[in-house]
Amino acid sequence: MKRIVIAGSGFGGLAAARALRERAPKETEILLVSPRPELLYYPGLIWIPTGLRSPSDLRVPLESFFQRHRIRHIPGTVTGVEEKGRILVTDKGRHENDALLIATGSASVRKLPGIEHSRSICQGIEDAVAIRERIESLETGTIALGFAGNPNEPSAVRGGPVFELLFGLDTWLRKTGRRGKISLTFFSPAAEPGNRLGPKAVKNLLADMARRNIPTHLGAKLSSFSAEGVTTEAESFPADLIIFTPGLRGPDWVAGTDLPKSPGGFIKAEKTCQVSGFPGTYVAGDCGAYPGPDWMPKQGHSADLQAETAAHNICEYLEGRPGTREFRVELVCVVDSLDSGTLVYRTPTRNILLKSSLFHNAKSFFERRYLARYR
Ligand SMILES: Cc1cc2nc3c(=O)[nH]c(=O)nc-3n(C[C@H](O)[C@H](O)[C@H](O)COP(=O)(O)OP(=O)(O)OC[C@H]3O[C@@H](n4cnc5c(N)ncnc54)[C@H](O)[C@@H]3O)c2cc1C
Repeated sequence: MKRIVIAGSGFGGLAAARALRERAPKETEILLVSPRPELLYYPGLIWIPTGLRSPSDLRVPLESFFQRHRIRHIPGTVTGVEEKGRILVTDKGRHENDALLIATGSASVRKLPGIEHSRSICQGIEDAVAIRERIESLETGTIALGFAGNPNEPSAVRGGPVFELLFGLDTWLRKTGRRGKISLTFFSPAAEPGNRLGPKAVKNLLADMARRNIPTHLGAKLSSFSAEGVTTEAESFPADLIIFTPGLRGPDWVAGTDLPKSPGGFIKAEKTCQVSGFPGTYVAGDCGAYPGPDWMPKQGHSADLQAETAAHNICEYLEGRPGTREFRVELVCVVDSLDSGTLVYRTPTRNILLKSSLFHNAKSFFERRYLARYR
């Protein structure tokens, strides 16, 4: 009987678990290691500050999913791999395997002086709730929202949720009659923030900010944050609340292993999702660095596509055949603004951008449908 071990119960780990249970021989043992039997649905965090979601909407307990799919969940935290991946080392024990899928997500670069004066909408529930509470108590003042990349790995950036929160807050503050007393401002060291969504998207996002009366501070390296505001190499501007998403980097546990690493500390993989030089060991989602165009996104949709590819190739590998399927490079997202949304679609040959009030509801509908499979 073969044993497949999965690390992580986020988008990548769970999509791989489903695909493996469908494809692998019935008797295959599937173990999944993660700190808790729970999925955190990150895309819904943008709606916590405006009250559209509560923390319990976004935390999905997975006991029933694991039972239905005959997956053994092992609570624990991965600390390393040995023997080219055939042993996964955790804080609670070592797990031998015939194939390994790593999907433990990314970490963030938190080096900026004064970063403790900011909150991130991408950090998790605690920060999202703290942002909500701070905005609720703010009678007048300025909220500055921004994001930055990882200088060692320019593709390791997460800007989408920051645009969504910015536009969502603008809509919500207007609806609740508070926008006149609370200013919003946007900052980024990039001169063209959001350029991975495509050139049309950058123009569109900046035009939306101008239309909503949101001043921008672009193209200057960030120097520091303080209780008073933001300082860049070009200027300082005041902020009563700084909401900042730093660049992404590889998970801490990867650093001490002999897994191949990209400059940003992500696990280097092939287009087949196999970890380079580690047969039988695969990676999916944010913790991997994959060959592809420089705009290749780190997003849930990609994690799902990579996980399905990895699952297919793992089954081939376990049958003694080379797994040669390659994952599809595709960016699909809706940049939500609470009352409307912009759909962005990008492949190596196409880049489409569509605006409609229907996309806000479509994003909500997608969330319900996506989470239903794990409930
Ligand atoms: C605010 C926000 C909004 C977003 N909006 C969208 C969107 O609209 N569309 C979209 O496609 N994407 C969106 N994304 C991106 C998307 O959420 C991520 O790309 C996706 O979660 C990546 O999946 P993953 O499986 O690689 O990692 P994660 O979802 O981060 O899951 C990692 C898993 O590994 C576990 N883990 C971590 N460390 C260890 C360890 N050492 N040992 C064992 N387990 C470990 C974690 O507990 C978790 O279960 C958004 C992200 C954020 C933050």
